[in-house]
Amino acid sequence: MVFAFYNTLGREKQVFKPLQEGKVGFYGCGPTVYNYAHIGNLRAYVHHDILVRSLRRAGFDVNHVMNITDVGHLTDDADDGEDKMVKSAEERGKSVLEIADFYTQAFFNDTERMNIKRPSVVCKATDHIAEMIALIEKIEKNGFTYFAGGNLYFDISKFPSYGDLALLRLDDQKAGARIKQDENKRNAFDFALWFTKSKFENQALVWDSPWGRGYPGWHIECSAMSMKYLGEQFDIHCGGIDHIPIHHTNEIAQSEAATGKKPWVNYWLHNEFLVLDKGKMSKSSGSFLTLQSLVDDGFDPLDYRYFLLGGHYRSQLQFSEESLKGAKNSRKSLLDKVNSLSAKVGTQKPRISAEPPPSPKGEDSHLDLNGLEADVAKYIEDFDKAIEDDLNTPRALAVLWGLLKDGPATADALAAVYDMDRVLGFRLEESVNSKPDGEPENEEFAKEIEELIVKRTEAKKAKDFNTADTIRQNLKDRGIILEDGPNGTTWKRL
Ligand code: AMP
Ligand code: ZN
Repeated sequence: MVFAFYNTLGREKQVFKPLQEGKVGFYGCGPTVYNYAHIGNLRAYVHHDILVRSLRRAGFDVNHVMNITDVGHLTDDADDGEDKMVKSAEERGKSVLEIADFYTQAFFNDTERMNIKRPSVVCKATDHIAEMIALIEKIEKNGFTYFAGGNLYFDISKFPSYGDLALLRLDDQKAGARIKQDENKRNAFDFALWFTKSKFENQALVWDSPWGRGYPGWHIECSAMSMKYLGEQFDIHCGGIDHIPIHHTNEIAQSEAATGKKPWVNYWLHNEFLVLDKGKMSKSSGSFLTLQSLVDDGFDPLDYRYFLLGGHYRSQLQFSEESLKGAKNSRKSLLDKVNSLSAKVGTQKPRISAEPPPSPKGEDSHLDLNGLEADVAKYIEDFDKAIEDDLNTPRALAVLWGLLKDGPATADALAAVYDMDRVLGFRLEESVNSKPDGEPENEEFAKEIEELIVKRTEAKKAKDFNTADTIRQNLKDRGIILEDGPNGTTWKRL
């Protein structure tokens, strides 16, 4: 498959070519864990998930890194306001770390319910202060900083390409005025790398540094952690469109100033916002919808996933209960169709192997099209074209529906449906295989689980914990939880 992605850097669709053949380094900005993720935030993570799943299905070995912001993000992206974590901890009478742990767990609980795959590396800002300090030292050594009023700032006048990503006009008075002036700054667009003087006395988390005891600016964590896990230059960086003018613009400036290498990242993919009828949703204002609130209203998290995939990630999506109900009904019809196809197919085997060929790290990869019946293969080709074209999920969904409505009722068609679901992530195969409580499990699936448990036990014995963890995680992704006890490992449904 040859992907074309719309690159914010350049504002055009570009053919995707990774730096290293067959491998992709991908960094997606993670959550700031001072509150629950709202459903708008979850749109960003579904976008990352579709990207990763599509690349892996196409055979790429994707290293997906995501940060957890548990320090340094002020209520205004441009160094103003209060620390979001400290504010939340005070309001709830808890420590900052308790708040971070609680909302990190809540975040992964949400993403799991939405069948969003866990990133290969999840890294917390507070665990990487040393890396941030080392990076700031490089930036300072290269002459891009100044110290004022107790804080260390990045001097954008030393970095001529500052603002290229956002097409910022630095002489634009209005843009400058939008960013509230911190009197220490020489230029409105300069930003803090390290704070020692915060506006409030009770900064909970502080560390020693060459510039004094304090804490890092928000942007530096993403530069430091992405480069630690992906190298000084890597392929793809994602986040919501709100990150273009400040956060990602500053990440680029810091990273390239530190390494002297350009471009730091080759492809920048940004998701548009989910908006409510009432307007923008904001985590810091406290008025927002969570996934749990949708569940409380009788929706399945996958109904929301279906709703999101009905829009292209670069189009603004308006949320309403009406449209979510529409998604819920469509998803139910989809499951009904797949169930009846599966019943018709019965025990027939597809002509091709229904299992994808092995791929690095045991990740999902593409169905082998060799030998697939022609009536079915053309749907897979159309599906691939839609996904290759800047991850066009609405078109891909339409192809899936086309196959179910007009395609043949054969084992190959069912295998193709499951193959498409490797990207869409509606858990179709598990839904068909799972029986209501009390009924015996699908025998083949149960046998496969038992075999994987044996493999995992052997891997653990051989101290191959990577394989053991991968098996556990893969089963979890398919709705199966393993429990290790004194008499061996047992399994149950999620
Ligand atoms: P935060 O936890 O606030 O740092 O945001 C996490 C991710 O959600 C970032 O990539 C944001 O750009 C993205 N985001 C925030 N609000 C929305 C929204 N309403 N719709 C889509 N993405 C959003
Ligand atoms: Zn970031």
